[in-house]
Amino acid sequence: MSVLKSTVESYRSTIFEYRHALHRIPETAFSERRTSAFVEEQLSKLGLELETGIAQYGLTGLMRGEGPGAKDGKTLMIRADMDALAVTEETGLPWASTHEGLMHACGHDGHMAMVMGAALVLNTMKDRLNGRIKFLFQPAEEGPGGAKPMIEAGVLDNPRVDYALGAHLWPALEQGKIGIKEGPLMAAMDFFELTISGKGGHGAMPHLCIDPVDTAAQVINGLQRITSRQMSPISPTVVTIGSIHGGSSYNIIPDTVQLQGTTRTFDRDIWVSWPQRMEQIIKGICESMGAEYSLNYQPGYPPTLNDAEMAELAGQCAIRVVGEEHVTSPEPTMGGEDMSFYLEKTKGCFIFLGTGRPGCAPLHNSSFDFDEEVLLTGVELFAEMALTLLR
Ligand SMILES: [Zn+2]
Ligand SMILES: [Zn+2]
Repeated sequence: MSVLKSTVESYRSTIFEYRHALHRIPETAFSERRTSAFVEEQLSKLGLELETGIAQYGLTGLMRGEGPGAKDGKTLMIRADMDALAVTEETGLPWASTHEGLMHACGHDGHMAMVMGAALVLNTMKDRLNGRIKFLFQPAEEGPGGAKPMIEAGVLDNPRVDYALGAHLWPALEQGKIGIKEGPLMAAMDFFELTISGKGGHGAMPHLCIDPVDTAAQVINGLQRITSRQMSPISPTVVTIGSIHGGSSYNIIPDTVQLQGTTRTFDRDIWVSWPQRMEQIIKGICESMGAEYSLNYQPGYPPTLNDAEMAELAGQCAIRVVGEEHVTSPEPTMGGEDMSFYLEKTKGCFIFLGTGRPGCAPLHNSSFDFDEEVLLTGVELFAEMALTLLR
């Protein structure tokens, strides 16, 4: 067994305890107060240079390497997200949530345990680190997004971050596998609200009304034409209307209809083109029907794009951790991640750690859980990456 593997192994129970402690106290976006305090307490035991209260509950811990070239070396950031979800836990685990109606159903408790575990392990190997490591814990990944305000608060500066790493526990990938892919891994993700206003009246007399329900139906169909007719068939995009509200009775044409939805794409140029493309269709249809509209289009997260060199290096490190047969190029997903904001500014890589078992619950499900062995794999991979990048 390598020195690294045996060091990770020696912290097995501590890493699991981190996860259990955090799993018990889930907190949603921008309310991660107890979570942040727990992480701070653990990192302060390692003597890291801490900065707290970033973008409310975000924090960073800086570890300075003690290798001969440490002073002039590079800085690696390893990132975890801290927020949980408004889900009532049904796992029955001994460390189940003690916060009613809230649950770490996206594995962010595991992400934090892994990054804290990597700090524990690397703290014993500082003489091999020719550079610095910034361990970063951010709020609100599940939205509205904590990465952007963390960056605006300067987490990528002083010292300037050269490389960024992060990982997500991933049930769509078989347990024991590590998924690494260069280029697009996760999609850009936006949100929009649309109100269509007509003129209400009797359902039997549509000619005296401007029907926003009928107009909304045409708009929904029209928006699907963006993905099917405007986009290249080999560049995947999604427009989903997830919510539609209007009307109160079968025989009354209402005044307004409200819709909400999301768009997805892997392509930065398409990403920035959504509002204009959507408005063109909505405007055309509404005008033709005599209806009015108001569109509130909110850009969410950019696409998560992995740097080719970093993905290559991560792949080599992953092979050393789990063996070649367990390293795979995962299918990208139209889900979004605000890790993408760091990857826009810094060479980096976001990695999937397989937790998939037959019949296992998906992310965001009240029964979501994973075999904690994956946490040790994640810690070792982060540490291996750090030792390689800062050799
Ligand atoms: Zn999630
Ligand atoms: Zn997540």
